[in-house]
Amino acid sequence: MNAETPFPERLARERRARLRAERLYEQAQHDLRAMNDHLRAHAFELSGQVIAQRKELGEIKRHADKLEDVNSQVSQDLQLAHFEIDRANLRLREAIDTLQDGFALFDAEQALILANKAYLSVFHNFSEVRPGIRYARLLEVCAHEKLVELGDLSPDEWVFKMLGRLYQPQIQPIELHFTTGVSVRLTDRRVANGDYVSLVSNITDSLRYQAELRDAQTRAEAAVQAKSAFLANMSHEIRTPMNGVVGMAELLTETALDDEQRGYAQTIISSGQALVSIINDILDFSKMDAGKVPLNPTVFDLEKTIHEVLSLLAPTARNKHIELILDYDIFLPAHLMADYGRIRQILTNLVGNAIKLTETGYILVRAVGIGTSGTGHIVTITVEDTGIGIDPEDQGRIFTEFSQVEQTARRRYEGTGLGLAITQRIVTQMGGNIWVDSEPGVGSCFGFTLDLATAHDMPAPEAQELPQDCRSVLLVSDHLISRDILARHLKTLSVNVMSATRKDTVRRHIATSPPDFAIIDQDLTESDPRVVMDKLVERCPATRIVLLCSNLSEIKPDIERHKVFAALRKPVIWRDLLAALQKPATRSISVPEPKGQERVIRPAMRKLRVLYAEDNKVNRLVFTKMLKNMDIELHIAENGRIAVELFNRLAPDIVFMDVSMPEMDGREATHHIRATPAGKTVPIIALTAHALQEEIAHMLEAGMNAMLSKPLKKSELTAALRDHAPPEFTFPED
Ligand code: ADP
Repeated sequence: MNAETPFPERLARERRARLRAERLYEQAQHDLRAMNDHLRAHAFELSGQVIAQRKELGEIKRHADKLEDVNSQVSQDLQLAHFEIDRANLRLREAIDTLQDGFALFDAEQALILANKAYLSVFHNFSEVRPGIRYARLLEVCAHEKLVELGDLSPDEWVFKMLGRLYQPQIQPIELHFTTGVSVRLTDRRVANGDYVSLVSNITDSLRYQAELRDAQTRAEAAVQAKSAFLANMSHEIRTPMNGVVGMAELLTETALDDEQRGYAQTIISSGQALVSIINDILDFSKMDAGKVPLNPTVFDLEKTIHEVLSLLAPTARNKHIELILDYDIFLPAHLMADYGRIRQILTNLVGNAIKLTETGYILVRAVGIGTSGTGHIVTITVEDTGIGIDPEDQGRIFTEFSQVEQTARRRYEGTGLGLAITQRIVTQMGGNIWVDSEPGVGSCFGFTLDLATAHDMPAPEAQELPQDCRSVLLVSDHLISRDILARHLKTLSVNVMSATRKDTVRRHIATSPPDFAIIDQDLTESDPRVVMDKLVERCPATRIVLLCSNLSEIKPDIERHKVFAALRKPVIWRDLLAALQKPATRSISVPEPKGQERVIRPAMRKLRVLYAEDNKVNRLVFTKMLKNMDIELHIAENGRIAVELFNRLAPDIVFMDVSMPEMDGREATHHIRATPAGKTVPIIALTAHALQEEIAHMLEAGMNAMLSKPLKKSELTAALRDHAPPEFTFPED
């Protein structure tokens, strides 16, 4: 606008401008108010939010505070746990460090994780041996640094062998010998997580002890052997002069002596024999004490073995009027396997004791098969007597050595107290057991059970049958038990059995039904056997008489007079009786051998030719004198060589051979004789002072038929002649 513009216009314009400004102002004020309202509302809203957030913040803070508490508790616990872990680790480490044995743990890659001091001590000069080292490297250090003895292997071969061992499915322990002289047993185990654990035990001392022990054992065995040899020699040395003492005393009793002198001679004999049996016991016991009961199982006949023992002891029993009875289970096989020499020894001990400790009555030996085992038969053998018996409190200790029930002061019976201890050891060694059942004043029963293998490839036993003409048997005997045993056996063969003890019972029986056989016991107390036989011959001549006798020579005239069909020596063995009953009914008198062979007695046309080899002068004298009254042509050789020469020249019927002789001993001489045609079958009887079982076995192996032990007894010599000389020669009974 310029100055020429008129004033009103200028005023109008100004008014309009003012009005516009006023409107703008009002608009602005309105907007400002609206804005303020909006802001206020927003501020209000915001303050609400602020309050809510503040509240939330307060809660979060409280929560955070709580979490902080928990956190500090957890960290405290963690600290404690770390502390415990450290402590446990320390303890474990200390514990494995105190181990004297080495201990190490390897991971699955065979890197060492930890090892104790003992393990690391071997490697103390090698700084590389620490956690992380490989097992293979450890082996290399051992081998190449000559820490261990490698034997014949090179270091690499040894490492290879040791590593190979580690890959076996079952890692075997191995012994290592360090060059320092220390020996260890290394045992490695794989653990389930793949780690390996190594244990190294120091066995230096135990190896040394073992070596010392082995040494001591060798020395002890040598000493025992020396003792055994010494005892065997001593026994030989004592028995040889005892042969002279006992033999001569026995001969002395056959000369004209008054009663007093005879008594002295008898005492010399019994004392001598007692001494020899003591020597035998001690010798046997000392062998067993060394832990040896050598067993030599062979095929044998149990019934025959028991019978042999009973026959051997029969004279002593007869002198005491004690009846010996054998009851053998007829269902047991004839042939079994065992060391029959030992079974004989057991039986000799038990039956010998029974005879010694029984004054009247009987001794019954019973053998029963009580079952079968995988290999054979379980057999129980009992020896029952009617003797003095044993107190119950003593029964437990009689099997211990040197124990005798009787007090020394009032002892009536001889013995060493070793017999039952030896017997028990033998039975135990044979896998069996032994027991006793006894009542003082009534009697004792000793029993033992053995599992005896059956012998294969043996001929089948003969059929247990009787001929048609043996359907009824009359048993005449006082002995209830032996009569019952025979009756039982006969009844199993369907025989009609009648029993009698008195002659009127016999008469009654034969009156009603005359028997096919009459089996008569010689030792009848209520009747005279001769009278019974007279009655039988008179009333029933067809009845065949079988006589059971304890002394054949005593009854021989009656045997002939009564035309006795067969005479059997007691104790009777069933198979002999069976053989007698099975014989055809001829009238020849026969006496079955103990072996079961039949022997018809025909008079011999010449003297029995005997060859006797012995280097000892006294023994020769004893032997010669013992045969003095017999119908014998005796030839003597002073050693084995001369014996062989004489054998070839004279062809004797029987040879008695000493075992120990100079120049050529008995075994070698037997060997030479057996090599000749005539020597194959000639009976050769060994004479020996050796009591040892293996010696006996050696003699039988050398080809000898039987053995007689020194000091020689006349009764045993005669029995040997009776058993082994050709059948046409007879010898007097004792
Ligand atoms: P011994 O050599 O003394 O007979 P044993 O060992 O054979 O030694 O026997 C030990 C003891 O057992 C005997 O001394 C005896 O007292 C007792 N004894 C053994 N058998 C019998 C028996 N059949 N009757 C009674 N006592 C017996």
